[in-house]
Amino acid sequence: MPSRHEDSPYISVVIPVYNEEDNLPELVRRLVRTLSTTGRTFEILMVDDGSQDRSWEILTELHEQHPEHLRAIQFNRNFGQHRAIFAGFQAARGQVVVTLDADLQNPPEEIPRLIAKLEEGYDTVGGWRETRHDSIFRKLSSFIMNRVMSWVTGVRLHDYGCMLRAYRREIVDSINQCHESTSFIPALANSFAHRIIEIPVRHAERQGGKSKYGIRKLIRLNFDLMTGFSHFPIHVVGFLGLLIALAGLGFGIYLFIRRLVVGPEVEGVFTLFAILFVFTGLQMFGLALIGEYVGRIYREVRQRPRYVIRQQLGGDLGQ
Ligand code: UDP
Ligand code: MG
Repeated sequence: MPSRHEDSPYISVVIPVYNEEDNLPELVRRLVRTLSTTGRTFEILMVDDGSQDRSWEILTELHEQHPEHLRAIQFNRNFGQHRAIFAGFQAARGQVVVTLDADLQNPPEEIPRLIAKLEEGYDTVGGWRETRHDSIFRKLSSFIMNRVMSWVTGVRLHDYGCMLRAYRREIVDSINQCHESTSFIPALANSFAHRIIEIPVRHAERQGGKSKYGIRKLIRLNFDLMTGFSHFPIHVVGFLGLLIALAGLGFGIYLFIRRLVVGPEVEGVFTLFAILFVFTGLQMFGLALIGEYVGRIYREVRQRPRYVIRQQLGGDLGQ
């Protein structure tokens, strides 16, 4: 655990970086300019999530330009955005910890507004991308996920996916005590926060490079979100199963009585086939869902390290 001395900065900005070579210089330039105007002490923590481009070289150069402000961690391979943030949180020393994406979709200039809100007494302040510059497919999947997450977690938010967020030190300390290997940081933070607020923030097109979330990664993330925070999906399946079983029983009784009154039905064979398929499908779905939870239990039981740090700049940042 990093020790917190009097000289530790007030603000820590944690940024996951995966193949963002085009964006890093401008990102750091705008961050340093914005954070300097706050009059607070600050540090920028970049976590290179196993980039294959020149991101790490650029971070090294930027560290040489801003040795007092920029620190960086490099993973030895790609572990995912949220694990990178976990690593940043372990290293962060600030009283206020801000997360931000490296692609400049959320402008760093919004950070002082978030901090001001936090200082009003909130535990976490989330950004809410009112007008979002992403593909229609992304917007639709986010819309559904935000609704589902609000319902499942009981914390109503417009935008669970926006990573421009500010957290109090206490919340980050709580997150640092979590040992699950995959998680979704905004939802995890909410589970520890008492006062939560969202403020609208600007959102732009990605500056350089392209989105790191393809369809597979996106499904994975949404699954993490659903299964990592509730057993709601499995309850739905259980309830449906019970309902269908009762309906099936009712139907069986009806067919039995019909047989006594009208005689046996022959033509109905195919209807039964159709019903059977519905049952089989549902059973498979239920089984898959159970498998998902079992798989997750297995992964947690193994307790593998969440990530492996290869190099670091600016002191010992690991735990
Ligand atoms: N990112 C990461 N590891 C990954 C994928 C993404 O560290 O495996 C970082 C990425 O560099 C960026 C942030 O997470 O800073 C968000 O990624 P991206 O902008 O591609 O997501 P989108 O805006 O499309 O949701
Ligand atoms: Mg982005």
